[in-house]
Amino acid sequence: MRSTLPENNYPDWSRFLAAVWNHGLSVHNMDSGHATQAVKDASESILESITRRNEAHFIRPSAFLACARQSFFFLGGATPGKMPDNIGTTFAVGHLLHEISYAAVKSGIPEGFMVETEKAVALPEWWPEDERFNQKGHVDMFITITDPEEALKYLPEDVVRTQPKMLIDFKTQGGFTYRKHSKADYSKAVDGFGYMSQLAVYSDALGVIGNGAILAGINRDSLMQPLMPRFIAPSTLLKEKERLKLAFSRALSSTDPGPEFAIRHGKEADFFCGKGGKPGFCPFKVECKEAGDACQSTLMEFKKELEDVKD
Ligand code: SF4
Repeated sequence: MRSTLPENNYPDWSRFLAAVWNHGLSVHNMDSGHATQAVKDASESILESITRRNEAHFIRPSAFLACARQSFFFLGGATPGKMPDNIGTTFAVGHLLHEISYAAVKSGIPEGFMVETEKAVALPEWWPEDERFNQKGHVDMFITITDPEEALKYLPEDVVRTQPKMLIDFKTQGGFTYRKHSKADYSKAVDGFGYMSQLAVYSDALGVIGNGAILAGINRDSLMQPLMPRFIAPSTLLKEKERLKLAFSRALSSTDPGPEFAIRHGKEADFFCGKGGKPGFCPFKVECKEAGDACQSTLMEFKKELEDVKD
């Protein structure tokens, strides 16, 4: 028989979410309706993942934003490097784990909270109205406190009052990345896949950037590992929003910002940029190498403007 999450004073959204996810994943607590929907939605996504290419054809909150130079190259007409032909399995597993997580949270969440998944979002007013920018988006999960009295059985009073809504983005991760994620300081982490960009755009679009957001890691190599939610502070999201605005202004005016990501992170960027013998994941690493480190003056100006953005 299904049980509700035992009342407990979780200190924050992260620990509450991890407990809800774990509770809902139990075979005793998983709701058959949510599970059925998850399997149906997952099967469609899995089929698409293994039969179609998944390259981005627009600048999206999840594509070409990790580095200002990626947006610049894309708008300049460069063709992004292709992903491996057999990447579909990784995406398929990711979709499955996302859908199971949605069903788990919907099954495990107590009264007083509303869970929305794959929620459509209108992008913020500063997102360029340009045909090369995708004009629609969606978020994995958005939880709203609908009954503060009930919510107080699980969350502290200041959390219920100041964070009545929480944006959650799930990431399926290999074991190495999951362990890194569990310790990362996201206020300055090397974020080659643009997780902060995505959260900054969507949290601002939803009007909750001041609440912060959660990046929740799922270990796809070891499925008995707990969910790893990490809270991303409002200051990190606000700074990322300003960095993106600067990046867009450079890209839309065809001004090369230089290798912004590499300058920002130094040697630690090599893994993503494909330097120092590393393979690299940046879809514009070839163009970047050809362009070299030119535009240092523009880059320094960019950095100065970014430093001026208050936390
Ligand atoms: S290789 Fe690095 S610095 Fe160059 S565009 Fe890609 S992320 Fe930016």
